[in-house]
Amino acid sequence: MDTASLTLTAVFCILLLVGLAMRMVLASRQIRHVARHRDAVPIAFAQTITPEAHRKAADYTITKTRFGLLELALEAALLLAWTLLGGLEWLNMTLLAALGGGMVQQLALLASFVLIGGLVSLPMGWWSTFRIEERFGFNKMTLGMWVGDLLKGTLVGALIGLPIAALMLWLMGAAGPLWWVWAWGAWMAFNLLLLVLYPTVIAPLFNKFEPLKDEELKSRVNALMQRCGFAASGLFVMDGSKRSAHANAYFTGFGAAKRVVFFDTLLQQLSPPEIDAVLAHELGHYKRRHIVKRIAMMFAVSLLGFALLGWASQQAWFYLGLGVTPSMDAPNDALALLLFMLVIPLFTFFLSPLTALLSRRHEFEADAYAVTQTSGSDLASALLKLYKDNASTLTPDPVYARFYYSHPPASERLARLRAA
Ligand SMILES: [Zn+2]
Repeated sequence: MDTASLTLTAVFCILLLVGLAMRMVLASRQIRHVARHRDAVPIAFAQTITPEAHRKAADYTITKTRFGLLELALEAALLLAWTLLGGLEWLNMTLLAALGGGMVQQLALLASFVLIGGLVSLPMGWWSTFRIEERFGFNKMTLGMWVGDLLKGTLVGALIGLPIAALMLWLMGAAGPLWWVWAWGAWMAFNLLLLVLYPTVIAPLFNKFEPLKDEELKSRVNALMQRCGFAASGLFVMDGSKRSAHANAYFTGFGAAKRVVFFDTLLQQLSPPEIDAVLAHELGHYKRRHIVKRIAMMFAVSLLGFALLGWASQQAWFYLGLGVTPSMDAPNDALALLLFMLVIPLFTFFLSPLTALLSRRHEFEADAYAVTQTSGSDLASALLKLYKDNASTLTPDPVYARFYYSHPPASERLARLRAA
C-alpha cells in the first residue's frame, strides 16, 4: 500500500479508538452520576417528583445507557468488519462476479449493505423494545406489530430509497466532474419533498391521524395559534399509545403542509393550559426561525459533504486505505457512497457538543417565547409531567449532558422558567 492509503488507515483507526474511548468514558460517567443520585430527589423537585418516580427514572436511564455501550461495541465491530476486515470488498466482488459492473450491481450493493446492517441490528432493536421498554412499562407493541412495522418500513424504505439512490448513482456517472453539485441539488430537493411527504403519506402508514375532536381544546389551541400568527393546515391526534406510553407533540411539514400533531398519550397526561404551553414552545421554534435555520444549515453542511465526496471518490487511497479495491473497469460510485457514509460519523462525532449546544440554545429560546404567550408555570408543570412520565433523569452527569443533550437538563430549564 502507498503512504496516502496507510495514512488514511491510521487516521481511521485513531479516530475510531478515540471516539470509542470518549463515548465509553462519557457513558460510564453518566451511569455513575445517575446511580449516585438515585436515592435522593433533588430539592427543587422534592414537591413534585416522588422517590419512586425518581428511582425509576434513574434505573431506566442507567439501563438504556448500559445498553448504548453494547450497541456502541457492535457498531464499531460492524464498521471494522465492513472496512478493514474486508466485508465491503467481499460483498462488492461477489456482486460484480454475479451481476457484472453496472447500475444493477451498484444498486444491489447499496441494498444488500442496508439489509445486512438491518439484520445485524435486529436483535438489538428487539431487545430494546421487548426487554427494556417492556420492563419499564413503556412498550405497548406486540411482536406481530413489531414485525409488521419492520416489513412495512423496509418496503417504504426501498420504494423511496432505491429511486433516489439510482438518481445519485446516475448523476455520479453521467454529470461530469461537477456531478456533486447536481447530486447535492437533487438530494436537497429530495429532502424537501420528504418534509411534505412524511406527514401526509408516510407517517399515516404507521399511525392513525385523526383531526382533533375535543372542541374546547381545539378552540384554545386555535386561539393560541392565531395570537402567535401561525397558520397550520390541521390539528391532528396520533395514536402513539398503540406502540409506546411515551408522550410527545410535534410540528411537521412546512408551507401549506404544516400540521400540529399531538400524541394521544400527551393529551391524556396534560391539562389544557399545559397543552397550550407545550404548543407555544413548539410555535417558538417556528417564530424564532429555528426550523429555517436548521434547513439552511443542512443545505450548507451537505454541500460541503458532497464536495468532499466528489474529491475523495477520485482518490485511489480513499478506497485502498479503507480496505476496498476500486475496480478499473466498472464504476465505483456505490462503493464511494458507502465508504463515505461509514467514515464521516467518525469525524462528526467530535462536533456533537457544538450541535448539542446550538440545539439547547434553541430550546431556551422556544421556552422564552412560550412564556410570552402562555404561562411559565404551566410550561414548567407540563415539562415536569413529561419528565416523570418518560422517566427522564433529573440528575444527568453535567459533562455527559454538555456533550449529548439536545435539550437542557430539567434543573436548568425549570430554573430559567421560574426566573422568567
Ligand atoms: Zn423544543
